[in-house]
Amino acid sequence: MAKMISCPCGWTLISPQGNDDIKKHIQIHAKDHHPGLTETEDEVEKMIKTV
Ligand SMILES: [Zn+2]
Repeated sequence: MAKMISCPCGWTLISPQGNDDIKKHIQIHAKDHHPGLTETEDEVEKMIKTV
């Protein structure tokens, strides 16, 4: 099953590769678009949905 994450800014990512891939991409996204925002791994996990 694919995993999906939605950022509050409207950015959405769907990955068939699982949580590790999602976490990698949300970190890149946060760094590029929300510098100063820090999300813990726990918070990121809560944002991940299975689709
Ligand atoms: Zn965002």
